[in-house]
Amino acid sequence: MSYYDFAVVGAGIAGASLAAELAEGGASVLLLEAEERPGYHATGRSAAFWEECYGGPEIVPLTLASGAPLRDGGFLTQRGALYIARSGDEALVTDFMQRFVPTGATIEHLGRGQLQSRLPGVRPSWTDAIWEPVCADIDVAALHGHFLARGRAGGVHLECRAQVADLKRGEGGWTITTARGESYRANTIVNAAGAWADPVARLAGARPVGITPYRRTVVQVRVDPCVPDDLPLVLDLRGQFYFKPESGRLWLSPHDEEPSEPCDAAPEELAVAQAIERVGEVVDWRVEAVEHKWAGLRSFAPDRRPVYGRDPEVEGFAWFAGQGGFGIQTSPAAARLTRQLLLDEARDAMTRGLAAELYSPARFS
Ligand SMILES: Cc1cc2nc3c(=O)[nH]c(=O)nc-3n(C[C@H](O)[C@H](O)[C@H](O)COP(=O)(O)OP(=O)(O)OC[C@H]3O[C@@H](n4cnc5c(N)ncnc54)[C@H](O)[C@@H]3O)c2cc1C
Repeated sequence: MSYYDFAVVGAGIAGASLAAELAEGGASVLLLEAEERPGYHATGRSAAFWEECYGGPEIVPLTLASGAPLRDGGFLTQRGALYIARSGDEALVTDFMQRFVPTGATIEHLGRGQLQSRLPGVRPSWTDAIWEPVCADIDVAALHGHFLARGRAGGVHLECRAQVADLKRGEGGWTITTARGESYRANTIVNAAGAWADPVARLAGARPVGITPYRRTVVQVRVDPCVPDDLPLVLDLRGQFYFKPESGRLWLSPHDEEPSEPCDAAPEELAVAQAIERVGEVVDWRVEAVEHKWAGLRSFAPDRRPVYGRDPEVEGFAWFAGQGGFGIQTSPAAARLTRQLLLDEARDAMTRGLAAELYSPARFS
């Protein structure tokens, strides 16, 4: 039986990016994925944007550090983002500016006139906006494929239809058994199982950190008038919706956040109706047809920060989980930082500004 330095559980964006990094650091890596193909769960269902402020000030450093590699790799197409606010929400605008200006995010306060020129058809009750010019669309499939290809080039062994069902630690490391009865051996298990991160921790005898999956719905609609291609991503400062254009259509989300068991998430009709109702409160466009809808699980630790690094109690067990709603846009820097933590490497230009202790699993013990 082959023996690996690392067995990474889950081949979404988290597992794929970290496996590639570990292999490039000289480690032998096994990447185990329960589904027939990698990227079936959260990674394949994202809204595909890189937005500097998304996830809060403690996530901004990971997003900013990931910007250059994503841009240099050709994975970003600049779009711009508008956080919009109603008359009466002035305190929210001030609070947002105060929280995010110190993070280094590129943001600017706009009045009604500039909002109207960037969002044609916006209703009169929307009076303020915060403009973030560098927000971009991410080519998620290409990025995920890029990490898998880098891993393959570095010798990562990917096994699909390999749901990890049992983890036993003995003298010589871990024995991993899958639901189909295959066995593997590894020195360190890395938990990159997304919504299943706590159940995988339990298999290893590690204390779950309380990662909760929340359902998020996205609806693709056809609207009249036709959506301009250069429309920015539009987000509500109260956090009740976002929408953006996609190939002449509109992708919109009611920003729903329903706690869920880990599962193959499906959209609820109520969330779809809410999405349509909310966009109607913002612009005077008519929704002509719902063409497509989907849902995925965004998984958060209790403090909404991701969990990267070695478990403080169980030897040979590490976390790369709790990627929330920012796991794609933070993936280059998050994977590089976690590689450095797991291989005891020095920081480099990408990760030097990151405070690893913010994301350490030790904060829960
Ligand atoms: C609707 C929606 C919109 C989003 N929009 C954005 C966005 O615009 N920008 C952004 O950056 N992020 C966005 N996100 C968040 C982003 O998609 C996630 O943070 C990211 O995909 C998480 O990646 P992951 O690899 O941790 O999880 P996943 O992609 O879910 O991968 C985990 C994998 O682990 C596997 N697994 C689980 N248990 C086992 C086991 N026992 N054995 C083997 N394999 C196992 C699963 O099959 C799964 O493939 C969005 C998410 C959703 C749902």
